[in-house]
Amino acid sequence: MDIEILPIEKENMKSKDILKDPDSLGFGNYFTDRMFVVKWTEDKGWHDAKIKKYEDFVFDPATLVLHYGQEIFEGLKAFRSKNGDILLFRPWENVKRMNRSAERMSMPTMKEEDMLEAIVELVKLEKDWVPDKRGASLYIRPTMIATEKGLGVRPSKEYIFFVILSPSGPYFKEGFKPITLLATDKYVRAVPGGVGEAKTGGNYAASLKAKKLAKNYGCAEVLWLDAYNKKFIEEVGAMNIAFVINDVITTPRLDGSILHGITRKSVLEMGKKLGFKVSEREISIHEIMEGAQNGSVTECFGLGTAASIAPVGEIKYLHYEETGENITSVKFGDKPGKIAERLYKELQDIQYGEKEPPFEGWILKIE
Ligand SMILES: *Cc1c(COP(=O)(O)O)cnc(C)c1O
Repeated sequence: MDIEILPIEKENMKSKDILKDPDSLGFGNYFTDRMFVVKWTEDKGWHDAKIKKYEDFVFDPATLVLHYGQEIFEGLKAFRSKNGDILLFRPWENVKRMNRSAERMSMPTMKEEDMLEAIVELVKLEKDWVPDKRGASLYIRPTMIATEKGLGVRPSKEYIFFVILSPSGPYFKEGFKPITLLATDKYVRAVPGGVGEAKTGGNYAASLKAKKLAKNYGCAEVLWLDAYNKKFIEEVGAMNIAFVINDVITTPRLDGSILHGITRKSVLEMGKKLGFKVSEREISIHEIMEGAQNGSVTECFGLGTAASIAPVGEIKYLHYEETGENITSVKFGDKPGKIAERLYKELQDIQYGEKEPPFEGWILKIE
């Protein structure tokens, strides 16, 4: 792909002082100096690829994405190793998934090499923005939006694909601490045949109300149940989920409505290599509530790029019965489980270049 790199003047560059204290960065609050942008039209395909100053878009109020939500995105990170190398974790998986999301949302796909090149070239130019602290990283957000003007419901004939970068702090600022989840039969995230497998903004818009309910019950996130039976565990919004059941790392089988997480896939592959038994199958909320009490379910953790591994200390289960609202709860403890801790360290060692990746292609060094 031909990428034109537009110069930016020194006085337009942002101060990097915020990087001195990576703990205070938070997530997605700051953006670097440059962005990647490329356009798509029916007649020209992808064209006009540029890396330029990070700046506002100007849209007509009738732009399709603003009305019907034809939008997809990805999320991955660049890590700085001790010796200063900039490393990407399995970026090929992200570009593949972006194309799968595009396909589901009737949007154009892009050659995987081109999408990866856009990411790599941008990160290369912005490498000084990668924070220097274990746990912190440069978050990479590739996004595609429908930019044709009109109110007729149809796939847009024009798109913009762009990549922005956000230096972000450690997910666990006060140490690797367990979170609480709320499982409920009141709301569902996705149905088989729907768009749950696509990384599209609407899934998140639809989840906000449930997340608010979770907050009201003192929980950080929702543990989604399947839409048909309101019984089988799916995932946690921005994370997949796993349990340790009779010493087996067990995660819901991808059933058509669960997002295909790269962290999930990596933990299954890495776990096996480390000698753990792993399993993908249906897991009902009842199996977990009972198992946590009788001792067969010993750990629970979320899996996603943001936290990598997020230990879960408690699950509250809010369900509606003929007699009314009912809430029960199980605890896994105030401290992360041993297996979660082991996987977390292992994954971080690989991502920060302290350990050889267990499989070829897991790490892409930016040179
Ligand atoms: C992105 C995402 C995940 C996690 O995927 P990773 O590739 O591991 O970051 C899980 N669930 C949903 C709904 C997501 O959007």
